Amino acid sequence: MNKNRRDFIKKAGVIASSSAMLGTIGCDSGKNVNINKGDGKMKLTFHSYELKLKHVFTIAKNSRTTTPDMQVQIHYNGLTGYGEAAMPPYYPENPDSATKFYQKLDLGQFNDPFQIEKILDYVDNVEEGNHFAKASIDIALHDLVGKMMRQPLYKIWGYDQEATPCTSFTIGIDKPDVVQEKTREALPYRVLKIKLGGGNDKEMIENVRKVSPDKDLYVDVNGGWTDKYEALDMAHWLKDQKVVFIEQPMPRNQIDDVAWLTENSPLPIVADESIHRIPDVLASKGVYTGINIKLMKCTGLREARKMITLARAFDMKILMGCMTATSCSISAAAQLSPAIDWADLDGNLLISNDPYEGVKVVDGRLVLPDRPGIGIRKL
Ligand code: MG
Repeated sequence: MNKNRRDFIKKAGVIASSSAMLGTIGCDSGKNVNINKGDGKMKLTFHSYELKLKHVFTIAKNSRTTTPDMQVQIHYNGLTGYGEAAMPPYYPENPDSATKFYQKLDLGQFNDPFQIEKILDYVDNVEEGNHFAKASIDIALHDLVGKMMRQPLYKIWGYDQEATPCTSFTIGIDKPDVVQEKTREALPYRVLKIKLGGGNDKEMIENVRKVSPDKDLYVDVNGGWTDKYEALDMAHWLKDQKVVFIEQPMPRNQIDDVAWLTENSPLPIVADESIHRIPDVLASKGVYTGINIKLMKCTGLREARKMITLARAFDMKILMGCMTATSCSISAAAQLSPAIDWADLDGNLLISNDPYEGVKVVDGRLVLPDRPGIGIRKL
């Protein structure tokens, strides 16, 4: 840690502790709390929460109407940091595995939430895997620290609140009338992300274009194409349809085919299923044009920031994506959005039972709230 950062954190610590000494109040989700109270130890609580999707969601591999989810809280001296693990069924984690992981954690051994690196190193080393559960702890800890500093994370990290990108709105694979209806519903969004790979790719795009002829489109194939020559033909066709990039066109194990496609494609090729954590960024250099970072897959904000730095060093583009999730993890991801090229942070817009208010989409663009931490409040 360099001296400036040490001084910064030291000052922030002084602000937090002087508030405590004076018996003044901290801000927790808009409520005033007395941060004198408490035993100076962090405590973890969690509960499962089933996300209800507004529409049946279909991608190349399956369809569903709900997403299992865990909501976590880290309590510290009267403040609460909120985190979330949203766990779509095609990933290996679920509420049971997350619960087992949380039960192994002993956050009570730490008495200084500012020691983010130390605490999250511990969390990462408790057990292999469990990336989604680890991300929920990471988000809650960052939210807590932001609340102790009384500042939004984007501000602590030095990002420009005005530099947030537009977010795309996702349209799943469906019948023509449903695709057209969803495209109509998505008119407030400036960019659409179309799921392909279901065997009706051109029909999907043509139905979107019937309703929305000019909007920028991202496409996500979820590894649904296997022939590189057909993939290249589609890339040329999609470029003529004003598509901006193609996400995970082929299965992640077809590395040579993807590298060939990237070299010849008129559109950027973005890795998603191929990217989890930092070593995957290294492996994607020379294979993909860009990477899709998702907090759930990369264990949270700490690692996401490092992946952004590494990808930029490789001159790669950065997309931030998400799962269907509440405004908790979406607002956390949005704190990083001034540092990326493209955002696909619509997961909270796809559910009907969001318990929080956080990042908003105004005229298609992500707008970060002026609240501390990840910027959410309970509804
Ligand atoms: Mg994807």
